[in-house]
Amino acid sequence: MGSLHQPYGGRFPLTPWAFATLSIAAKLIVQKLIGKDFPECGRAMRLLVVEDNATLSELLAKGLRTAGYEVDLLATAAEARTVLMTTTYAAVILDLGLPDGDGLAVLRELRHRKDSTPVLVLTARGGLQDRVSGLRSGADDYMVKPFALEELVARLEAQLRRPGQQLGNSLHIANLEFDLRGRQALIDDQPQMLSARETAVLELLMRSKGRVVSKKQVEDHIFGLSGDVASNAVEVYVHRLRKQLSDRGAKVTIHTIRGVGYLIAEEKRDPV
Ligand code: CA
Repeated sequence: MGSLHQPYGGRFPLTPWAFATLSIAAKLIVQKLIGKDFPECGRAMRLLVVEDNATLSELLAKGLRTAGYEVDLLATAAEARTVLMTTTYAAVILDLGLPDGDGLAVLRELRHRKDSTPVLVLTARGGLQDRVSGLRSGADDYMVKPFALEELVARLEAQLRRPGQQLGNSLHIANLEFDLRGRQALIDDQPQMLSARETAVLELLMRSKGRVVSKKQVEDHIFGLSGDVASNAVEVYVHRLRKQLSDRGAKVTIHTIRGVGYLIAEEKRDPV
């Protein structure tokens, strides 16, 4: 019973099916809220701005788009919670004073799920206590309003230049490790040769540990703009990766969650 809990993070002690059902529901709400699906790995880096002040929010979006980012805007803690459960962003810019709650609570939940997306906190409160609690809640950086947009972009870029900083340099599930710098898989500390696409699928799954990755996200990640993707291409690469990992003794399972996507987790053996 308890064994099912771990891969989904402490906050979501759910079975895969309950998790899948919730994911579908969350995704539908997200699509309703935003009016479109979210590509996880677009060509430009995608940022989420959670800010209830419409003027500031538009200004941020404009500035960040000019700086070459794709930007999604949300204005409430509830929306942010929902979207962050189903979507991975390069970074999040998070206002603390939201109409329906404290941005810090959203941040704490994110970190509790072991989600290490860089978060830059925005707030009007400049008190020492707020800064301390912001950083303790897992913020990577902190800006007090009013601020210069140039500074925000510069600080954001500093965060984005440090991939894997919060994650460490590698991701682990059981005896499988993914070295983010060398972009290589290791099993029991032994480097493994995988094809470029198998590596790409594995990296995406490992980075999304504890979350379901949609087929579309895998497709975007491995094929990008290259077009002409066979409809079963993702299944083929996932199947190959599964076989490679299992043949080499990795104690992980890539679950297919029908109609939703894929989830990598530690292999669980039923007690005999
Ligand atoms: Ca606010």
